[in-house]
Parts: sequence; structure tokens; C-alpha cells
Amino acid sequence: MGYRIALFCFTIRLVMRDWGEILARRIPQGAVEEGVRLSEKTTLRIGGPATCCITAHRSEDLAAAVQTCREEGIPWFLLGGGSNVLFSDRGFEGVVIVAKPDGVATAPGNRLEAASGLELMDLVRLAEARGLSGFESLAGIPGSVGGAIVGNAGAYGRNIAELLESVELITEEGEVAWVPPDSLEFDYRESRLKRSSEVVLSARFRLAEGDRDSISSIIRETLATRAEKHPPHDAATAGSFFKNLPPETPGGRRIAAGLILDRAGAKGMRVGDAYVFEKHANIVVNRGHARAADVLELTRAMKQLAFDHAGVILEEEVRRIGFTPEELSRRAVQAPATV
Ligand SMILES: Cc1cc2nc3c(=O)[nH]c(=O)nc-3n(C[C@H](O)[C@H](O)[C@H](O)COP(=O)(O)OP(=O)(O)OC[C@H]3O[C@@H](n4cnc5c(N)ncnc54)[C@H](O)[C@@H]3O)c2cc1C
Repeated sequence: MGYRIALFCFTIRLVMRDWGEILARRIPQGAVEEGVRLSEKTTLRIGGPATCCITAHRSEDLAAAVQTCREEGIPWFLLGGGSNVLFSDRGFEGVVIVAKPDGVATAPGNRLEAASGLELMDLVRLAEARGLSGFESLAGIPGSVGGAIVGNAGAYGRNIAELLESVELITEEGEVAWVPPDSLEFDYRESRLKRSSEVVLSARFRLAEGDRDSISSIIRETLATRAEKHPPHDAATAGSFFKNLPPETPGGRRIAAGLILDRAGAKGMRVGDAYVFEKHANIVVNRGHARAADVLELTRAMKQLAFDHAGVILEEEVRRIGFTPEELSRRAVQAPATV
């Protein structure tokens, strides 16, 4: 019996080794790493090893990596800047494809076209340099253009979907197609892409002609406001852990999850090295050696606190990857029974 289990584990390990070899053979330009810890790829600096990781610097390599995994039946996960994910301490059994194509070009009619792996802040700066307005409120949001589109990133009442003209995708059927934004079901921190296995290759944005000085000054103000409320640049965090709540009246402002958590007394809560940032109750920081299990435990307690104090059920904005459904559901707050 023991012999059979050992043989089974040995075979599985051999198959997993093959994944790296297959990718390296098919995508010679991609950087393949085996057993790399996902804590090195995410801003929370948490996560066990991925069986294999491939960094694609060109769109064609990104497409080839996705296609190879699909054809070979290899489990895969697409990562951008890693600023909105929590990987489990076990890591990810499969291939993590890191999207790094970072080309960008201007096009007539105040348009910019950017590859998915370009840092969002680089796009903000390019628009500023060209005197194109629209991205100012998004200044300071970490991560890639692709990740921002998938999660419809935004701040101060603006979000990236408003600026999109068209998105180039690898569809679930493996086709490459440009699609209009209204087909992507954008909502607050949501899009169809979050629920599908489509991959963003690039995107075209339509901006407004603006005054360069006023664009720069709004960017400066945005960055200054963020610096006051957010942890310092070198802090390990994924930004707001929970989504803000829907407005109380249609068309009103969303209710900040941070405010609810603050009023409930969440600031300073901690589990191990994971703690609630003292200036913003919706931000969890890893102060050194926090494990994913600590973050799950802490955020469960935050959710419970918000529920007990305000009767609301907070929904995670950060994607949690590599956990069993049981691990995730065990930690969810139960909704009150309706009468
Ligand atoms: C300090 C800090 C402040 C933040 N402030 C804000 C804020 O103000 N507003 C806000 O909205 N967010 C904020 N965030 C969260 C985060 O920066 C954004 O959600 C960001 O857009 C995520 O981009 P990413 O490239 O890091 O995505 P990742 O974390 O790498 O991935 C997020 C999701 O997108 C998917 N994905 C990534 N790239 C692609 C692609 N090319 N194709 C298909 N799927 C893809 C991944 O599979 C994953 O499901 C903050 C984070 C930090 C650390």
C-alpha cells in the first residue's frame, strides 16, 4: 500500500516537472521558474510555491502559455501585478502565468493602446505627458492594466471601465478578439472577466484632451491623499480587502467598508503578523511573516465585527486562490435567518 502511494506521488511529481519542460519548449522566450514561492509575486508577500511559473514579456508568449495550458489540461492562473490576490500557504498546484507585456502606443483621436502587463501608473504618466485627461483619479493604484480591467479598478468615484474603448481578449474558445466594454458586464470592482477564463491581451482607451498642468496637479493631489491614508510604499498589503457597500439610495455614494470597520473598532486587530492598518480599517498589512491562514482568520474576524456592529455582510475584493471551498466557507459570516 505504502509502495503504491509512493509510486503515485512520484508519478505526479514527474508529470508536474513536465509542465515546466513543456512550457519552456513551446515558449523559449518565456522565463520558466519551478517551485517559486508566490509570496515573491504578490504585494501581500504571502503564498506557498507554484508548481511552475512562467513570465511572458510578449503578448504572443502570453497567448502561447495560455493555449499550452489549455491544450495540455494543465491548471493555470493568470497573474498581473499580484496586488489584489491572496494565495494560500500551500501555494498553487499548476502553472502561474505572469502577464508582463508592457507595450504602449498613442493613436489618433486622444487614444492610448496598452498591453496588459503595463503598470497602470505608467499609463497614467504617459497620458499626463501627452496632455490626455481621464486617468488622474487612478494615480497610485498598483498593478497592471490587465488586472485593473478585470477588477474594474477605480478610486474617488472614477473607474477604468469608463475610459475603455475596446479590449483585446483571448476568448474561452482560444480566439483573439477585440470586444467593446459593454459586453464585459462591468460593475463596481467587477467584470465578466473575473468569472471567466478569458485573458486580457491589451486595451484601447479613449481620453479627453486636457491641460497638462491641471492634469499634473490632480495627479499630485490624488497621490498626496493616498499617501495620507494608505500604508507606506514598502508595506506588504493588497489594498482594501473588502468591497465598499452599495449606496443607501439609488445614485448615491457607496458606503465605505473602511468606515464601518473603523466604527466597529477593527483598527489594530491582528492575527500573527497580519494586522488591520491603523489609518484605514479596510486594509490588512503583513508586517513580516504573516501566513495566508492568519489573513483568513483576521478577515473572518473583521467580517464578524462588521456584521455584529452594523448588520452588514462584507464581500471580499481581494481574490483568494488555492484554498478549498471548505476553508473559505468555514470562515464566512452566516446571513441572519429571514422571518
Ligand atoms: C496599496 C494598494 C492600494 C490599492 N488601491 C486600490 C484602489 O484605490 N482602487 C482599486 O480598484 N484597487 C486598489 N488596489 C488593488 C489592486 O491594486 C487593483 O485591484 C489592481 O488593479 C490589480 O491589478 P494586478 O495587475 O495587480 O492584478 P492581480 O492582483 O495580479 O490579479 C487580480 C485578478 O485579475 C486577474 N488578471 C490579472 N491580469 C489579467 C489579465 N491580463 N487577463 C485576465 N485576468 C487577469 C487575475 O487572474 C486576478 O483574478 C490597491 C492595492 C494596493 C496594494
